[in-house]
Amino acid sequence: MPVEKQRYLELIKKLQPAGVTLVAVSKTKPVSDIIELYQLGQRDFGENYVQELIEKQPALPADINWHFIGHLQSNKVKYIASFVQLIHGVDSLKLLQEIDKQARRHNRIISVLLQLHIAREETKFGLDEKELEQLLQNPALNQMDNIRIAGLMGMASFSNDEALVRSEFRSLREIFDRFRPFERKNVKLEILSMGMSGDYEWALQEGSSMLRIGSLLFGARN
Ligand SMILES: *Cc1c(COP(=O)(O)O)cnc(C)c1O
Repeated sequence: MPVEKQRYLELIKKLQPAGVTLVAVSKTKPVSDIIELYQLGQRDFGENYVQELIEKQPALPADINWHFIGHLQSNKVKYIASFVQLIHGVDSLKLLQEIDKQARRHNRIISVLLQLHIAREETKFGLDEKELEQLLQNPALNQMDNIRIAGLMGMASFSNDEALVRSEFRSLREIFDRFRPFERKNVKLEILSMGMSGDYEWALQEGSSMLRIGSLLFGARN
């Protein structure tokens, strides 16, 4: 399936003036597709699977900002810690501690987003508001010099019910606003990652600052 270059250019023209970052989600897509968007200026790419990411990364330009957007298991952090720019789906202290530890080994600071559970759908991933508060106040964060909690991430219900999806994005935006004053040396909430191919326009209207878009740019996945 050809890369949707025209659609990419139209989208980026709209997002750039608004200061919204586009993460091109390239999971399951070949390196050659990534290069096509890279040549149009795209630098932020997102992957969901550690194995796939560590195969692609060395084959691609070093100035790509790699986003890990899938569910990251603690025992796999070590494989991506030397290069990953932003880890989107963090939802436990244990994972934060492992990212900090691996970042320290590489003398880096790794930025992360905390994942909130906003969809009506059941899933085991994501924090609720109470858990977010506890995490942001946890004294253990004081020892973590190699992470930055840079914002929040969430996924709305997989639905074309506009009112439902927008209300979920809105609740994430409200949580984001409520917790922004919560600054610590390694906590500064600046990024709100919400919106995918099917719902990004609603996410933008509800205040997203970072979209994660795959199929709209690269075509449907198998
Ligand atoms: C796959 C994926 C995306 C992109 O999905 P599309 O519908 O193809 O845009 C965004 N975010 C996460 C967390 C994903 O797993």
